[in-house]
Amino acid sequence: MGMMKFAVTPGFEVGGTILKPEQLALLGSIIGENAKIELTNFKQLYVELEEERIEEVKRELAAIELEIYPAGFVTKSLITCNFCRGAEDAGLAIAEKLNDMIAGIPTPSPVKIGYAGCALGTSEPLLKDIGVVKMRDTFDIYVGGEPKSLKPTFAELFITGVNAEQMMITVDKLITYFQMNGKNKEKFPKFIKRISMDKLREALAN
Ligand code: SF4
Repeated sequence: MGMMKFAVTPGFEVGGTILKPEQLALLGSIIGENAKIELTNFKQLYVELEEERIEEVKRELAAIELEIYPAGFVTKSLITCNFCRGAEDAGLAIAEKLNDMIAGIPTPSPVKIGYAGCALGTSEPLLKDIGVVKMRDTFDIYVGGEPKSLKPTFAELFITGVNAEQMMITVDKLITYFQMNGKNKEKFPKFIKRISMDKLREALAN
């Protein structure tokens, strides 16, 4: 049997994405000496180990409150800020709900979804495929950010001033629309350019 990869994260809380010492210790001790742990730029650890041990290791990691997600062509778990304004003001509960809805959905290419608890945007939501920004009591959603290359692109404002429920519905629709209409391996920002913002708005309005 070969090697397989999956993603691990401690999730997020006020203070950010924080690994506890016991989680790191167990991770290091159970994966075995042939395994590899990669620190990704989207706040997940990629663990690669022998296929036959994957399920057992996943169970042990889940038991110490680590979240397990698929690697590869899926929506990544939500990339959040540190909620420095506090759980309520920065919207921790809605961010958790959003993460539960979006993480690990198969897509034509990997999709990164960012969340910021205020307009300071310290989690860089405008450099994500989809960026959600909490603005006091409402949310703005940006699409099409691309941080790579020497000419990075900021995401464009897709919708502004929506409530939490509308925000969740819109993000869900964006993912589904990409699933249905994206070409295999097409990057989300390229997909947005090909479709155009106007057509995307029109399609998601239905
Ligand atoms: S985006 Fe706002 S609430 Fe979140 S950590 Fe940055 S400054 Fe704090």
